[in-house]
Amino acid sequence: MLMAILAQNMEIMSTEIERIHTLIVGSGPAGYTAAIYAARADMKPVIYTGMEPGGQLTTTTEVDNFPGYPEGIDGPTMMVQLQQQAERFGTDVRIGMVTEVELSKEVGGWHKATIDGSKVVETQAVIIATGASAKYLGIPSEQKLRGGGVSACAVCDGFFYKGQEVAIVGGGDTAAEEASYLSKICSKVTMLVRKEEMRASKAMQHRVESIPNIEVLYNTEVDEVLGDSVVEGLRMKNNKTGATSEIAITGLFIAIGHKPNTDIFKGQLEMDEVGYIKTVGKSTKTNIPGVFACGDAQDKEYRQAITAAGTGCMAALDAERYLAELE
Ligand code: NDP
Repeated sequence: MLMAILAQNMEIMSTEIERIHTLIVGSGPAGYTAAIYAARADMKPVIYTGMEPGGQLTTTTEVDNFPGYPEGIDGPTMMVQLQQQAERFGTDVRIGMVTEVELSKEVGGWHKATIDGSKVVETQAVIIATGASAKYLGIPSEQKLRGGGVSACAVCDGFFYKGQEVAIVGGGDTAAEEASYLSKICSKVTMLVRKEEMRASKAMQHRVESIPNIEVLYNTEVDEVLGDSVVEGLRMKNNKTGATSEIAITGLFIAIGHKPNTDIFKGQLEMDEVGYIKTVGKSTKTNIPGVFACGDAQDKEYRQAITAAGTGCMAALDAERYLAELE
């Protein structure tokens, strides 16, 4: 009997639907900025933080390029402060992962989101701020030294290698742009391209090849990142000849692309071929009424904390106007 009542209660709990005013998915700079604006506009935002509360910045050490912090700030502290700022105005921050969505195509329709596979929330306004994840090579020595000299963001971390020798992996526009950025800070940049040629635009290739302190090694891959707790060197492998060689470096930048965290919206929202959500003109509106996208989930071009925060603000304003028009 007791078991039957328990089972019935569990059933009620798992099918309970909560109606909320504004749902924000993701807790990086875009999500929290959207929350600050939404909460101040009395939109009663609920944030689901996702798997990595605080987003990509929680994996960075020092953030030196976010305006307003003259001495710099470490990434995790900045994200805690953004959370506190959002909570000060009444944002409901919840640890949880949106695992499924059912978006309504109707203007004023209720969008459903399933949390952690069980609880369901309904809302007329969804702000997607799920971010993107940098791709890594996945080899053990690289994973071990993430945060110890292995980074996926030259603009964030390049400054820490001032006057030092570094390497960068990748042959796309990001790798070329970051190699050029690093060449102004570091004494030497070795660029490892796994094919015979770069994928980057011809203009970027010419730029990289014309910079004297960048050495481009084609058909070259990382065999092992050397060092116990910090990067001390790199063993490289020529994938044509099989020959290996070593260089001494203090920083290794991985620039082999990003993957937007948008899989749960596939088939419902318009995206490009990689999965970046398409937004209308300069706005954060998606192809579905009441669904707005901000931050790295819709931006493959700039991908900075400050630009993510800017689009988070825009998403809250777009959502506010949308909800106001429904009334
Ligand atoms: P891309 O996917 O364009 O390039 C990724 C690069 O990494 C390729 O050279 C690829 O090699 C290499 N790569 C992938 N996996 C591995 C691996 N496991 N080991 C070694 N190398 C690997 O990503 P980007 O981030 O460079 O660019 C993404 C998009 O953003 C592109 O459309 C780009 O044009 C755009 N962009 C535009 C900029 C601009 O216009 N200013 C600036 C930055 C990006 P391979 O070629 O062999 O597959």
